[in-house]
Amino acid sequence: MKKTDTPKGDSTRVVGAGRRKEWTQGIVNTPVWRASTILYDSVADLRAAGARDTHHRLFYGRRGTPTQWSLADALTELEPGAEGTFLYPSGVAAIAAALLSVLSPGDEVLIPDTAYDPTRSLATGLLARMGITTRFYDPLIGAGMADFIGDTTRAILLESPGSLTFEVQDVPAIVAAARARGVTTLLDNTWATPLFFPAIAHGIDLTILACTKYVVGHSDVMLGSVTAAPGHFARLRDTSFQLGQVASPDDCWLGSRGLRTMAIRLRQHEQSALQIARWLQDQPEVATVLHPALPSCPGHDIFQRDFSGSSGLFSFVLDGGTEAARAALIDGLAHFGIGYSWGGYESLAIPVDPHRHRSVTQRTDAGPMVRLQIGLEDPADLIADLAAGLERFAATR
Ligand SMILES: *Cc1c(COP(=O)(O)O)cnc(C)c1O
Repeated sequence: MKKTDTPKGDSTRVVGAGRRKEWTQGIVNTPVWRASTILYDSVADLRAAGARDTHHRLFYGRRGTPTQWSLADALTELEPGAEGTFLYPSGVAAIAAALLSVLSPGDEVLIPDTAYDPTRSLATGLLARMGITTRFYDPLIGAGMADFIGDTTRAILLESPGSLTFEVQDVPAIVAAARARGVTTLLDNTWATPLFFPAIAHGIDLTILACTKYVVGHSDVMLGSVTAAPGHFARLRDTSFQLGQVASPDDCWLGSRGLRTMAIRLRQHEQSALQIARWLQDQPEVATVLHPALPSCPGHDIFQRDFSGSSGLFSFVLDGGTEAARAALIDGLAHFGIGYSWGGYESLAIPVDPHRHRSVTQRTDAGPMVRLQIGLEDPADLIADLAAGLERFAATR
């Protein structure tokens, strides 16, 4: 990519991002630079290296090599207004480091009731043990956040849309309330990615991706990232160094490889998932489809206002029926794997029971719920598969 280019489109951006000559050495894909020891020419050089900021400079393997920096830079470039990105060996590690970079004993963090379940476990486990308290909030709180913030609130975590049930949060309203009180905001932006929701431009201080999902895109690598707004990167970097966090060069190389096709994959995930979600909402066995781009999803109006696209993960609620009927639907699917995670090229279906992971909001669902990750197969084949699944459900319920 020449310096004079000003790429605009998403595909152009993901193809060029992070490919600094310094990192690539002129090769198209940044090579895998593996390292623990870095050798110096003299004692003086060794001492000088340790005395300066070692981010983006070879110092010791744990501080990274051009393979990691290239991917980190790419993710920074995809977030207009961002200062820098740090990479982690998983999405959960990224969430933990981001929160620990902000919180100290005695502080309070606010977490949406719809947070990813391991995020809840982090809050009620490690954070609680360190004397950091958590209050869970209704993800649809919006401007009501102004009254919810307490005297010791230091950070607000957002996750939009929410895990399993896809409530879309009013990020600008929550950010405004946080800023008025000097509270740091963190967003788990894994579902939308910076392509569909540029978080820093929307006022978020630290934006988190489980790169395991759409950045990697092939279900074969665990990886996470935190991208910081100006003023927040130094603390994130220092905390991450102190925690000894390092994402492996091989995994980052695969992350960079995945990133090049992320925009085109997301467009296909979006189209296919929308087609299937719309089909599902017309089926008599389906009570509700929870997809942010459909009016039946709480926060849909906010989605329309703030997001430029939707990805491939959503849920639907069956109209009555038993656990066994839901299992009959899922077990017989030919093109949907049964397994955790998402964002790869292959479709997945799992039973989800959100009421087990909520503490301050109630649910009154008409029946059991199924979460779908729509992969890159032909949507007509996926619809035929789901149609047969709904027949099995209807025959068993
Ligand atoms: C999967 C996921 C994570 C965690 O990512 P891992 O790489 O699996 O640790 C965090 N947040 C959301 C919303 C996720 O779906």
